[in-house]
Amino acid sequence: MTNTPEYDVAIIGGGPVGLAAALCLDDAGLSVTVLERADAASWAEPAFDGREIALTWHARALLERLGAWQHIPESIICPLREARVETGRANHPLIFDADASHTTPGEPLGWLVANNMIRRALHAEAATRPGITLAPDIAVSTMRQDGDTTVIHHSGGKTRARLTIGADGRFSATRRRAGIGAVIHDFEKVMMVCRMAHEAPHHNVALQWFDEGQTIALLPVNGGASSLVLTLPANDIDRLMHAGQDDFNAEIMQRVGNRMGTMRLVNSRHAYPLKAVYAHRFTARRLALIGDAAVGMHPITAHGFNLGLRGAETLATEVGKAFTQGQDFASPVTLRRYEHQHRAATAPMFAATNGIATLYTRDTAPFRALRALGLRAASALPPFRSAVTAMLMDRNAKNPSH
Ligand SMILES: Cc1cc2nc3c(=O)[nH]c(=O)nc-3n(C[C@H](O)[C@H](O)[C@H](O)COP(=O)(O)OP(=O)(O)OC[C@H]3O[C@@H](n4cnc5c(N)ncnc54)[C@H](O)[C@@H]3O)c2cc1C
Repeated sequence: MTNTPEYDVAIIGGGPVGLAAALCLDDAGLSVTVLERADAASWAEPAFDGREIALTWHARALLERLGAWQHIPESIICPLREARVETGRANHPLIFDADASHTTPGEPLGWLVANNMIRRALHAEAATRPGITLAPDIAVSTMRQDGDTTVIHHSGGKTRARLTIGADGRFSATRRRAGIGAVIHDFEKVMMVCRMAHEAPHHNVALQWFDEGQTIALLPVNGGASSLVLTLPANDIDRLMHAGQDDFNAEIMQRVGNRMGTMRLVNSRHAYPLKAVYAHRFTARRLALIGDAAVGMHPITAHGFNLGLRGAETLATEVGKAFTQGQDFASPVTLRRYEHQHRAATAPMFAATNGIATLYTRDTAPFRALRALGLRAASALPPFRSAVTAMLMDRNAKNPSH
């Protein structure tokens, strides 16, 4: 006999995907604990981290179904009406809008919500569920197999679970502990994100353009501001991160070609080194990887969290089915079903995203010529635009109420 608490599922990492998985599994009737490194206060009320997440229709529908969407204040949800992609100064914009995919006129492409508010909403919902035990301040030291359970040793003691899920981000220690390798693609650039207030209205349009030596996006947020997403070599980002406010504003206005009028930094700056990660396997004995621990995408196509949510949903569906039928829900057969579906859902997008990121961030002549040609050809092809728009929206959603 031991006093080790035992759960059906232990999730290591209480980020947005780990918490979404906990809610999906709780809905399926399993007992769940979430072991998170952060302390209780910063887990419940995460600080702004600069990321504005473009949510697809499918993601929104799932967040609504899980009861998390209702915790996000309406005033901070920004509908995205159009996405424009431009290259260099030649300005052959490629425009994606919801109408291009033959949906009801006026419907948004998706919604932008700050990452910390999504995390906060998922935590708030998880905290109301008696079937979910939230364990903050946890540092995992080892995982040991014991019959049909895994014993996780950590700073708070021990936890026993029949299924362990690694949701601890793209540099996942759980993945490493399970002996699973990963393809890591280092883009050798850094992405800086921050909010800028500006004079000209954004009309709910996301702008992305590729200049020589820099990639910039302006993503609309509420309150006369946009999220600036700037990709440059590490030393340039380092300089900008430490620049005085006036110098910073002046340089950004010049970098965006003064197209938004006067611009002003309104909050903290955050820098993310660009490394994409794809785990060699998503499962091991009684273990599954989800979210960025399985697939850490380059943010350029705004799909990391959207795909992470899909993975959490797929895993919970397979595990829930086996659980309901009284079978071993952490068996290799069940976990393989998840792995198979999630690879099919993520591998093409991962490859395409890396291709786009490479094509649009290299400045040697062939890449410059190819991207100008690429945008011109793509804009002349309505079926291409409509296919990409449909992919961006991920519209086989179950009726999000909007
Ligand atoms: C600038 C930027 C913009 C982005 N924009 C978009 C977008 O528009 N659309 C989109 O879909 N995606 C976007 N993404 C991707 C998205 O943010 C990630 O895919 C998402 O955060 C992954 O969630 P996660 O829960 O898997 O991992 P994380 O968010 O990394 O969370 C991991 C959690 O695990 C915890 N943890 C780590 N190690 C341990 C440990 N050893 N023990 C316990 N806990 C641990 C961490 O504290 C954290 O809470 C963007 C990313 C960036 C960087």
